[in-house]
Amino acid sequence: MEFRDLKQQYQLHKKEMDAAMKDVLVRADFIQGEQVARLEKSLAEYVGMKHCISCANGTDALQLALMVWNVGMGDAVFVPDFTFFSSGEVVPVTGATPVFVDIDRDTYNISPTSLERAIRHVMDNTDLTPKVIIAVDLFGQPADFGKIRRLADKYSLLVLEDAAQGFGGKIGGKMACSFGDIATTSFFPAKPLGCYGDGGAVFTDNHKWAELLRSYCVHGKGMDKYENVRIGMNSRLDTLQAAVLLEKLKFFDAEVAACNRIAEEYTRRLKGFVKVPVIQEGIRSSWAQYTICLPDREKREHVIRALKECTIPSAVYYRKPMHMQDAFGENVLTEAGCQVTKEICECCLSLPMHPYLEMEEVGKIAECVIQTCG
Ligand SMILES: *Cc1c(COP(=O)(O)O)cnc(C)c1O
Repeated sequence: MEFRDLKQQYQLHKKEMDAAMKDVLVRADFIQGEQVARLEKSLAEYVGMKHCISCANGTDALQLALMVWNVGMGDAVFVPDFTFFSSGEVVPVTGATPVFVDIDRDTYNISPTSLERAIRHVMDNTDLTPKVIIAVDLFGQPADFGKIRRLADKYSLLVLEDAAQGFGGKIGGKMACSFGDIATTSFFPAKPLGCYGDGGAVFTDNHKWAELLRSYCVHGKGMDKYENVRIGMNSRLDTLQAAVLLEKLKFFDAEVAACNRIAEEYTRRLKGFVKVPVIQEGIRSSWAQYTICLPDREKREHVIRALKECTIPSAVYYRKPMHMQDAFGENVLTEAGCQVTKEICECCLSLPMHPYLEMEEVGKIAECVIQTCG
């Protein structure tokens, strides 16, 4: 059994995928081929935003957004304490200070209550200027953007939606990647929409920011790439990856629907035995991960071992709160120690999740979890 079965996806769509890749090989327009612009148009339409700027990966996408907003020394950027490293990593790169905020126990997403406390703490006790909220759509579920937007308005902050795991999710009729002033995603192979290598994209409705993004991601280009008007990056999406993504976008909704059926089956079987994921009313998750909580760390290790004995892979996302990662050193602030994040890091466990998982396999996995800790 695979944790996320990319081999099966390729076998099922081999013909179209091979043809799409071959087309690029024949034309040899590996950089900025016509598929790149076509993909950007399709993605912008899919999420309902005016501009999509593709780039090399989801980490660069976040950094590009902060560059456009001129985030730097003396600025505070609020980041959930429970997320992949990138969401926090990009902040010190700009010179700004990350402020780690606790999460909601049910959704695992940034807690609006903790967020407001963190903003007030920064205003009252530091010389930093609160500037940006990075809200992550963790495990596929969009963050609580109603409340986040109200706080952003109240304290004049910008919202950066990190939808690396959330692409394909929805709140009501609105798609993930449409909630931030700028939103980003990743096409890393194991993400909901993955390519055959690294890839990413940035979305915005703001024309000026879109123009800046296009400049920053190609060496700060002006009229052309040999006229450089600002310090930028080299962060482009390869034509080959764009061609792969254009094909994959055609069956992406069917895959998200399949993941939702699988998640329902997991929850139906596991509910009452372990803490199952909570998806808020009116929200569709893209199910980047199906993450349960066990009673404690020891029980989690038992379950991991029992699953392994049945050749079922599992993974712990995440073992460590961000504020405790050595890389940040002294340069971190947290909101009251982020207690919920600490607890969740001790007991969370992600189970195999992908569109090609059989219901029988879901049954077998659930049975194994229940027998070990039920
Ligand atoms: C994967 C991920 C990223 C980074 O994406 P890359 O394409 O791997 O650089 C950023 N944020 C979150 C929440 C992620 O899961």
